[in-house]
Amino acid sequence: MRVAFLGLGAMGRPMAANLARHHETWVYNRTAAVARAHAAAHGTSVAADLAEVARGGPQVVATCLPTTVEVAAVAEQLLDSLRPGTVWLDHTSGDPQATRELADRCAARDVALLDAPVSGGTDGAAAGTLTVMVGGDGAALGRVSAVLDAVAGRVVHVGPSGAGMAVKAVNNTLLATSLRAAAEGLVALRASGVATSTALEVINASSGRSFATERLLPERVVPRTFPRTFSLGLLAKDVGLAAGVVRAAGLQAPVLDLVDELTRAAADSRGGAVDHTELVRMVEDAAGLELGGDEERT
Ligand code: NDP
Repeated sequence: MRVAFLGLGAMGRPMAANLARHHETWVYNRTAAVARAHAAAHGTSVAADLAEVARGGPQVVATCLPTTVEVAAVAEQLLDSLRPGTVWLDHTSGDPQATRELADRCAARDVALLDAPVSGGTDGAAAGTLTVMVGGDGAALGRVSAVLDAVAGRVVHVGPSGAGMAVKAVNNTLLATSLRAAAEGLVALRASGVATSTALEVINASSGRSFATERLLPERVVPRTFPRTFSLGLLAKDVGLAAGVVRAAGLQAPVLDLVDELTRAAADSRGGAVDHTELVRMVEDAAGLELGGDEERT
């Protein structure tokens, strides 16, 4: 299929590279040099601007941008020029309500917008094993299954338009919750004299384990590497979107509200560009000690 992929960030670069192995793939990026480097490395074709994206007549448009605001801005320029029947896969972790509104505008042009946010991080994007949670029309999803297969290990149709975004927001709020809670618990254990790797060995063979304890803490915090793969600002955005999902359902969620407040405050104080594992460093700083590092070597 002919696919146009818009947004070559930490996730978009490897996703578009995997697409190019199976489909004719055009790439567009706000910073054009990134698209040119992608073409040189992965054999994709560069669209210099959104007009060129439209001229290419893609059957599938894929976006992976920071928020729904940037996606809507792209739609302003692109939507009227897309061919009827185009399927638009939005891999952005976006706002459910704004996505529904955009999907309605797309439908009026006979373009099917599917929210298709992803989970699995930059490793999963490189390996082509992402989990994709799709909201929107099932028939349109069927038409693009070959495209999603190039980037995903699992594709789940979770409901109507916006449902994929809602699931993603809640998922990432659970990530923020477990990361923050694990940091608080491990810091308390460290202050009580238990080495972090020892505590993790037990927790990861017990019922308190999570992605944070199984992957993030042992791979990024204990060795003190904190690689930048997923920004704290984007995580704070996702947690805020989950708070909106709770409000829209007319419910109360005091734990999620607290995590929203803490994650937003962390992004405000450390800056949104740092990796999301900076949440752990904030807990360490407040306690005046570090998890892992020298402690593991003594
Ligand atoms: P990055 O910040 O690495 O990349 C953002 C991309 O969006 C870049 O290509 C950037 O272009 C482009 N962009 C930013 N602002 C604009 C704008 N105003 N107009 C047009 N293009 C713009 O983000 P990620 O790749 O990490 O994340 C993308 C989405 O995927 C987010 O919604 C995020 O929450 C989600 N996500 C991220 C994961 C991760 O591990 N990183 C995992 C799962 C989901 P430029 O090069 O010009 O800056």
